[in-house]
Amino acid sequence: MSKALITSPLPWHREAWDAFHQQLRNGQISHSFLISAEAQSGKRLFATMLAQWLLCETPKHNQACGQCGACLLSDAGSNPDFIIVQPEEKSKIIKIDQIRELKQFIETSSHSFGKRIILLDSAENLNINAANALLKGLEEPPADVIFLLLSDRPKSVLATISSRCRALKLPKPTTEQSLQWLATQAPETASEEREFALDYAQGSPLKALNTLADESAERKKTLGNDLLKVMKGQEIVSKMVSRYYKNDALDVLNVLSYWLSVLVKFQISGNKDLVKGRTLQQAATLIPDQAFQAREFSCALLSLYENVCEAQTQVASVSNPNMQLLLEDLVLQLQHLFRQDTHD
Ligand SMILES: [Zn+2]
Repeated sequence: MSKALITSPLPWHREAWDAFHQQLRNGQISHSFLISAEAQSGKRLFATMLAQWLLCETPKHNQACGQCGACLLSDAGSNPDFIIVQPEEKSKIIKIDQIRELKQFIETSSHSFGKRIILLDSAENLNINAANALLKGLEEPPADVIFLLLSDRPKSVLATISSRCRALKLPKPTTEQSLQWLATQAPETASEEREFALDYAQGSPLKALNTLADESAERKKTLGNDLLKVMKGQEIVSKMVSRYYKNDALDVLNVLSYWLSVLVKFQISGNKDLVKGRTLQQAATLIPDQAFQAREFSCALLSLYENVCEAQTQVASVSNPNMQLLLEDLVLQLQHLFRQDTHD
């Protein structure tokens, strides 16, 4: 993604963006918002754009101009009227010290005589003391301060906090929207690469874009198709594994565990909406007709899924397993499950 200031909302957020601005035009302004959406679906980008728009000196058509002094500062990540609070890397929790630092920000007046924005990411991770400290800010905010709280799990945000915020729930992108957007962001990639990247990112277009941009992950892009080939019996398992076991074994395991977790749910329920991304959709069509919703097949998928999870644990540990044998065994099990001619 370009590093330049993004001023236009993601396509799946466009409606929510316009609705938000309409509310503002109608005078329905609030000083605190709880913006919720699925993980990795772009809500932080939405909130950042909102902050940039609120700070912009000359906003145009509901968007930040990208050129004024405030926008240039925002772009450089150094706008003094915009502060981001998020869990510190290891703890995953927002601590009271971080909220105390906010106090100073709140008590200092705006540098540009405009608004000041506090973006608090992962509001569900406020510990109780931090939440209590934040409450005071939410109860009596200075007129120019706007709180943008973000959460993947809004129901886990303490009620004392969420009840003081206006809720804004953002939709998740459809597979079509994600693929169309990826095509505009990474036009030099092949469509099947984008489809697989979306699978690998478990349906998150932003994560998928990172995968596509990661040149060292070239093999990851072909992994989906290679797995499909062995599932169809079009490639010998040992040959396929020989390309991956040295450097990309964990990728194979990660994709397998994701695919199997989705496929088992689909095989039991028949709900096609669960299957995101075309590579995985193709894999779903390989479930033998007679196996669909058959208990025995569900058990076999689950058992393979457990084996893959166990292998992931082994790889993460220091036990130094023989990756070639481990992968061959798992991919063979996969092939045996899906090749129709291997079922009697
Ligand atoms: Zn501007």
